Amino acid sequence: MPSGDAQRTWFPEMIVRLRSEWHEGISIPALIGLRDELDQTLHRIRAGRNIQTPIITCRRCGKTGHAAQPRVSVRALILAVARFGIASKDQTRALEKAWAEYRKQQRLDLEGKVRPREPGNCPH
Ligand SMILES: [Zn+2]
Repeated sequence: MPSGDAQRTWFPEMIVRLRSEWHEGISIPALIGLRDELDQTLHRIRAGRNIQTPIITCRRCGKTGHAAQPRVSVRALILAVARFGIASKDQTRALEKAWAEYRKQQRLDLEGKVRPREPGNCPH
């Protein structure tokens, strides 16, 4: 396992998918759908290669265990589009704003879901 994979969020096959699905003027719901797909891909890759996060002592609950698996948030997806040169920073900046606005209106979490965070269920 190459070092660095433990915390890795973007694997080459995900970037290929992002590049093929991304288009100018993509709607926010389509963006959320793409996030769902890439998040699943990330977990499949990590599980398939048995990539585990480091063991940590959690600052919230005090338990020692694997750190939470990285997840793809909608904003991370938008930032990745600029980072991997799929769209210009101007385009992604506008979309970042549109997403923040949409998220506020629809009261969504970072992953675009209507889902209150459950307190007490510590994922580290
Ligand atoms: Zn914890």
